[in-house]
Amino acid sequence: MLSNLAARDVETLIHPYTNLETFRETGPLVIERGHGVWVYDSDGRPYLEGMAGLWCTALGYSNEELVEAASEQMARLPFTHLFSGRSHDPAIELAEILKELMPVPTSKIFFTSSGSEANDTQVKLTWYMNNALGRPRKKKILSHIKGYHGVTVATASMTGLPANHADWDLPLPGFLHVGCPHHYRFAEAGESEDAFTTRLAAELEALILREGPETVAAFVAEPVLGAGGAILPPAGYYAKIQAVLDRHDVRFIADEVICGFGRLGTWFGSEAMGMAPDSLSFAKALTSGYLPLGGISVDEPLYRLMVQQSAKLGTFGHGTTYSGHPVACAVALKTIAIYKRDRIIEGVAEKAPQFQARLSALADHPLVGEARGIGLIGGIELVADKASRRQYEPKAGVAARVVAFAQAEGLIVRFLAGDRVAVCPPLVIAPSEIDTLFDRLGRALDRTEAWIA
Ligand code: PLP
Repeated sequence: MLSNLAARDVETLIHPYTNLETFRETGPLVIERGHGVWVYDSDGRPYLEGMAGLWCTALGYSNEELVEAASEQMARLPFTHLFSGRSHDPAIELAEILKELMPVPTSKIFFTSSGSEANDTQVKLTWYMNNALGRPRKKKILSHIKGYHGVTVATASMTGLPANHADWDLPLPGFLHVGCPHHYRFAEAGESEDAFTTRLAAELEALILREGPETVAAFVAEPVLGAGGAILPPAGYYAKIQAVLDRHDVRFIADEVICGFGRLGTWFGSEAMGMAPDSLSFAKALTSGYLPLGGISVDEPLYRLMVQQSAKLGTFGHGTTYSGHPVACAVALKTIAIYKRDRIIEGVAEKAPQFQARLSALADHPLVGEARGIGLIGGIELVADKASRRQYEPKAGVAARVVAFAQAEGLIVRFLAGDRVAVCPPLVIAPSEIDTLFDRLGRALDRTEAWIA
């Protein structure tokens, strides 16, 4: 029997990324409040939030300073915008700080309200740039199979997951996908990580040559592939990819929506993964998820072209009502100040060895084929047979079962396509809570094993 609140939900809400058929029976998990890394459901049950919400609540759930920053800005100026040259001090100050923080040459910051809008803006600006440069055919966008970049028409096209394409009439023409850099799942028998990444780089180059370099505009990639399975590319992968992109003048864009702001133990994932992109997209942990805000870095040559286009066209014809919302910017300013003052990013690097040791140890579990990550993110892949790496039938829903047992144990984790389970807790998680997280996940795996038997 669903509770009254749950029944009202089923009658009124459409839930993103939810099986809308089975949901009618199961109903929602209604979360009512949060404290630290814990959230509490409508019956008062606590759960360790092992996913930081949706990979975003880096500072946990009860940060009073962020609440105060929002409330002060809300009282002073709840809204103004950046259209037609209007401005406000939180956006100006935040852009200055982000410009300093960016690990890539950055002239300006463009704000959005989400990761999808940030990546959508990247696509549009790439096209706009190539028109301004007089190369109107250089428009194709490359991304990874299993990459996740958002849900707008363009970014769902970039996303390399079946659920974002099937029956959505996507991807649009001109969006191409390259091999997923997941050695455990996609390497050939006996292929070393080095040989695997060399092959992927060669395949990328072959694709660019086949399509014609004069038609290929950009490659968009996450440092660690998040929603596609919390997949860590092998060391040295991006250096090989980047050499190919440089040879063919293909813009390299890092989607830092999950990895940005400390997740891998560095300010940006690009630094940890040896990427030197032309531009970054960011969102999520920029405000610790407390308010919607995203953005992209714009380098000086691109900025000059944008100015040139305004001279020609009369305006920069892009932006949304909430681009650089003042309350969201105020919260982002406070979030970054806390990251710096409380050494949050250094703290991730310090806690990572414990987190990764507990994660790797799960590979000994009979159900787990791979358990791997970096910083405070990781994924496990469930297999029916460790030796052959054979997976369970998707219909068996084994990863979903692990997640359900974890929930029964008081832990929130997420299952992803390919029988993978992701963990990505708030960056402020304490060492004792890391142990609680993995103890509970271990018990969820044991219960799943018993359920299968
Ligand atoms: N890019 C990455 C790497 C993401 O993980 C996400 C969301 O999870 C997005 C883009 C899309 O961001 P949003 O959901 O804010 O539109």
